[in-house]
Amino acid sequence: MIEDKNPQRTSIENLGEFGLIDHITQNIELNQDSTLKGIGDDAAVINHTASTVVTTDMLVEGIHFDLSYVPLKHLGYKAVMVNLSDLYAMNAVPTQITVSIAMSNRFPVEAVEELYNGIKLACKIYNVDLIGGDTTASQSGLIISITAIGEQKEDDIIYRSGARDNDLLVVSGDIGAAYMGLQILEREKAVYKANPNNQPDVEAYSYLLERQLKPEVRKDIPKLLKELDVKPTSMIDLSDGLSSEVIHLCKNSNVGMKLYEEKLPLDPTVIAACEEFNLDSTTIALSGGEDYELLFTVKQEDFPKIKANPSLSIIGHAVPNGEGIHLITRSGEQIPIKAMGWNSFQE
Ligand code: ADP
Ligand code: MG
Repeated sequence: MIEDKNPQRTSIENLGEFGLIDHITQNIELNQDSTLKGIGDDAAVINHTASTVVTTDMLVEGIHFDLSYVPLKHLGYKAVMVNLSDLYAMNAVPTQITVSIAMSNRFPVEAVEELYNGIKLACKIYNVDLIGGDTTASQSGLIISITAIGEQKEDDIIYRSGARDNDLLVVSGDIGAAYMGLQILEREKAVYKANPNNQPDVEAYSYLLERQLKPEVRKDIPKLLKELDVKPTSMIDLSDGLSSEVIHLCKNSNVGMKLYEEKLPLDPTVIAACEEFNLDSTTIALSGGEDYELLFTVKQEDFPKIKANPSLSIIGHAVPNGEGIHLITRSGEQIPIKAMGWNSFQE
């Protein structure tokens, strides 16, 4: 994909490490008041007025992404989203990121530019400053490690540990689409391999592909909850899949949970794709990862404030710890929920 689409190829060796860093970090705007020093010294300097919230995520070629179908600009954008999602899940406001990359010198400079175009676009849209990073060679594929930094008043930070018996379990948006987008991409890759003249036909799947390739994190949800005057008791983002995130919330909060199959929010295109791939849509909703929606609990008394909101679905409620974590199926059966989330150590 890189080779075919970029007729112009400038070798990284021509620029050298410092030349490359200068090249990708030129024209970087700083917009946050808390950024006292960005790129260009031994370290950046930040001055938050509230508590500082920090998170890091690493993306590794062959484990988290496949460059044969992921455009580098999308990859850069998504790498930032993955990190910002964790900050929003703490109810923090993102302010800065650092970006470290390891890559082979088979990458032309234009490819690194594409990656950074995605990173910079994400910074612009989400109003975060790119304040530093590290650049090194790699002998085996591309690695991107991003650290995201945010701030929030100590009392307003939301942890995984605050859910209590009877709290309602709420998820934003819809789930399972990113996973089905990945299935489409894998299928098209196989078709292309078998016959490179086959043009992929992906029109009908645009929502699924967008959710996989260009996810947007739910910046709007903390704002919405504030407007509704609802403060979640616990919160987590959906990166690995609903079932494993529910288990994390329950373990950290010492509660059990009942989830209702009929309440799981699925886009019609997810249901259609599941039928096409012969997959059970409830299983996909529970185990498909990378939705980057927010999952949180609220007190029962907040029910009237959230019940009619189209961005929020109440999918269950907390029960005493000893009662365990179950899915109640449409036919009323109780099925224990196990962690089936996406796990990079699984074959
Ligand atoms: P040092 O040797 O002191 O670690 P570097 O030469 O690695 O400094 O980096 C110089 C400056 O460029 C630093 O401010 C660093 O944060 C920034 N930088 C280096 N690599 C990247 C990158 N991939 N993305 C963004 N900033 C970077
Ligand atoms: Mg360095």
